[in-house]
Amino acid sequence: MRIDVLTIFPELIQNYTNTTILGRAQEAGLLEIRCHDLRDQSDDAHRSIDGSPFGGGAGMILKPDPIFRTAEQEQVPRPLIYLSPAGQTFNQNVAEELATLDGFSLLCGRFEGVDERVREHLIDREISIGDYVLAGGELGALVVIESVSRLVPGVLGNEESSADESFSNGLLEYPHYTRPAQYRGWMVPEVLRSGNHGLVDRWRLAQALARTSRLRRDLIDARGGLSGDDLALLREFGLE
Ligand code: SAM
Repeated sequence: MRIDVLTIFPELIQNYTNTTILGRAQEAGLLEIRCHDLRDQSDDAHRSIDGSPFGGGAGMILKPDPIFRTAEQEQVPRPLIYLSPAGQTFNQNVAEELATLDGFSLLCGRFEGVDERVREHLIDREISIGDYVLAGGELGALVVIESVSRLVPGVLGNEESSADESFSNGLLEYPHYTRPAQYRGWMVPEVLRSGNHGLVDRWRLAQALARTSRLRRDLIDARGGLSGDDLALLREFGLE
């Protein structure tokens, strides 16, 4: 998968994506992240890429030309996605959808954002990472890159580890424990030490249902509520 990032702070993206699993995935040839500095396409000696807003008001606006030129000259992969508070709210479903693509590009805004003609005539889509305002799109781009990349086969090393996580089946994940079996008097649940894999699977699903019901009722509602089987499973482990 190839992901291009258009930004005035390429080092922010590179510093993060060259380490951790993203760095390993790039070394393994599973992922290619290309950063394009919008200032490289500035047409003035000061490499300026912003201008004051027509009509007045506070803040500066990213000019259209460096963004259009970067996208066109570098032939960045489509869709070209603008990180924006006005975009579709990012979630695991969107991450899974993007993970099916061979590539896409992310445009990071700064200051008051980009000239509207970029939104109207260049970008394909807008994504928000939540209802709050950041100083720039770079953190949003990293959120998208990391969550999508870990769904690319081979990136996590263990195919199972992303299939079984929160949101993958519309539920939050069940609890995990590791050694020691007893810590400060708190025991790991007996069922996890039973060696009975069928029982462990049922316990985990029951725990995921109970935790999601408690913390994210909206996710349960989105599944159409708790089924008869769900309720029976919760009862089996005393979680109703
Ligand atoms: N004036 C804009 C508004 O009111 O919607 C906010 C601009 S913000 C200070 C600068 C840049 O940060 C935006 O162009 C966008 O790229 C990025 N940004 C801010 N909040 C974001 C969010 N919630 N999700 C994704 N990107 C965001």
